[in-house]
Amino acid sequence: MAIERTLAIIKPDAVGRGLTGEILSRIHAAKFYIIAIKTRRLTRKEAEGFYAVHRERPFFEELTTFMSTSKVVVMVLEAENAIAKWREVMGATDPAKAAPGTIRKELGASIQYNCTHGSDATDTAALEISYFFSGSELV
Ligand code: GDP
Repeated sequence: MAIERTLAIIKPDAVGRGLTGEILSRIHAAKFYIIAIKTRRLTRKEAEGFYAVHRERPFFEELTTFMSTSKVVVMVLEAENAIAKWREVMGATDPAKAAPGTIRKELGASIQYNCTHGSDATDTAALEISYFFSGSELV
């Protein structure tokens, strides 16, 4: 298995509910190395750019409004097989369908308010990391 990096976001619902520490604990427990971390409030345009792949979906407007309402925590996580591993720790998109023990199952409120984001493939991970972090932040 290869060492990979993935982009993780603690979304506004989780930050607003005071779940940042709980989610960071789970990241440590799963033995990810946090390469970079910062808080940001996304602009509407940044949220739209980040989720551009969903532009045609009916929930695009609601999703990008939600993602730009208040602060998020953005992180680059490193581990063996980090992309799939972080998606496993997060659980399925819809908390109702997520496996027991996952972040989304235990902390998520709805399919939209599901606490965290994780890249879904090697190419999207590279793109998403570069969306928020410059090379000098990743050394
Ligand atoms: P992810 O990779 O598991 O985050 O899922 P997607 O890439 O399919 O969707 C991106 C984000 O859009 C999800 O994490 C949710 O916050 C939101 N989302 C996905 N499906 C729906 C939906 O049917 N309704 C709403 N309101 N939001 C959704």
